[in-house]
Amino acid sequence: MSAGADCLYIKAIATVRHPDKRECAECVKMGAQWVHLRTCQECGVTLCCDSSPNRHASKHARASEHPVVASAERGERWLYCYPDDAFADY
Ligand SMILES: [Zn+2]
Ligand SMILES: [Zn+2]
Ligand SMILES: [Zn+2]
Repeated sequence: MSAGADCLYIKAIATVRHPDKRECAECVKMGAQWVHLRTCQECGVTLCCDSSPNRHASKHARASEHPVVASAERGERWLYCYPDDAFADY
């Protein structure tokens, strides 16, 4: 881990969870579009990023108090903690 080393939520992650499917679980239900995908490290759900119209990942993080997501984009290896606004590579 590089940045975000003082985030306890990121520190607590031993194994990074990856998406089951590369699609936003909520956008698929609504027939909406997304830009990038993030996978919740608490429950494993894959949702859309803050550049997407519906921002499902950050809504989920707030509503469920699941702090950390991983990028679900191919070739990207980083974690993000919403409450601490902290990124970390892995
Ligand atoms: Zn944190
Ligand atoms: Zn979405
Ligand atoms: Zn979650």
